[in-house]
Amino acid sequence: MKAAVFHGADVGLKIEDIPIPKVGADQILVKVAACGVCHTDLHYIEHGVPTFKKPPVVLGHEASGVVEEVGGEVSNITQGQRVLIPAVLTCGKCMFCRTGRENICSDMQMLGNHMDGAYAEYVAVPSKDVLELPASIPLEEASIIADATSTPYHAVKNRARVQPGDTVVIFGCGGVGMNAVQLASAAGGYVIAVDVNERKLEWAREFGAAQTVNAGKVERVSKEIKKMTGGGADIAMEVIGNPRTIEEAFDCVRSGGRLVIVGFTHEKISISAGKIMFREIEVLGSLGCRPVDYIPLIRMVEQGKIDIRKQVTHRFALDDIQKAFDVMKEGASLRSIVTP
Ligand SMILES: [Zn+2]
Ligand SMILES: [Zn+2]
Repeated sequence: MKAAVFHGADVGLKIEDIPIPKVGADQILVKVAACGVCHTDLHYIEHGVPTFKKPPVVLGHEASGVVEEVGGEVSNITQGQRVLIPAVLTCGKCMFCRTGRENICSDMQMLGNHMDGAYAEYVAVPSKDVLELPASIPLEEASIIADATSTPYHAVKNRARVQPGDTVVIFGCGGVGMNAVQLASAAGGYVIAVDVNERKLEWAREFGAAQTVNAGKVERVSKEIKKMTGGGADIAMEVIGNPRTIEEAFDCVRSGGRLVIVGFTHEKISISAGKIMFREIEVLGSLGCRPVDYIPLIRMVEQGKIDIRKQVTHRFALDDIQKAFDVMKEGASLRSIVTP
């Protein structure tokens, strides 16, 4: 089968012909319909972030497809079913999994990181993790639910806990950020989207942002937000992973508000402990999405509360995957998918 194989940062991605993965007893083989192209992949390919599985490894963690084959012990899934594969697979056995916090599983396996992923014609995954997709959801576009939509779903619902009427500032309108805009707005929030790209801010308004701020055109974003909200937002979400933006997002929050960090950075941030204490500000992290949240999320897509079709702005054949990364770097795409 054809696959985009990562050979380490010095070589990058190569389209190769490799064997179709063998299916274990509790696994299924999925014929990949589409796989979303995520910024995380760019971190492996260009920014030296190591993959857990030593290269060569097939990347791609945002996939949907049709079940081609099931292992001998699989009883919950049948051949021909349309499925969504969550980006992160959980062990189901550790303390976190057993207490309903599977998204911070101590033995999590991420597709296209710990194991071969879905920039390929086929991928083998444990049957317990996949979700059935209703016929009304388009199969290819559904792939982006696996990460770009599910990660902000958990962030908005369980971490930011957006309530109707809350003012919510969202920093970064990429694939994940745009869904945070859409989800926070669907939850009744008054969303202010922040980015430096005018096109993305335009999209953010289409996806429910009430107001936008171009961070490149104002002196201090927090000053603007305080003006717009009469003293500060109830909630700020940072979906970039930039230490300076995280600090700026903190400064946007009113007393009693909360900051949710969704973007990843390994760098340190500097925020005032005194402000956290005296103004009772919550600072929270948010990682991935729990299995239990996928079903209501898929229902929201089915009910049209979350639009996935409009988010897929580009689609590429597997051979042209490099072009997907190029448009991502130019900031020209909202979400690209490859269709192997
Ligand atoms: Zn991703
Ligand atoms: Zn676990």
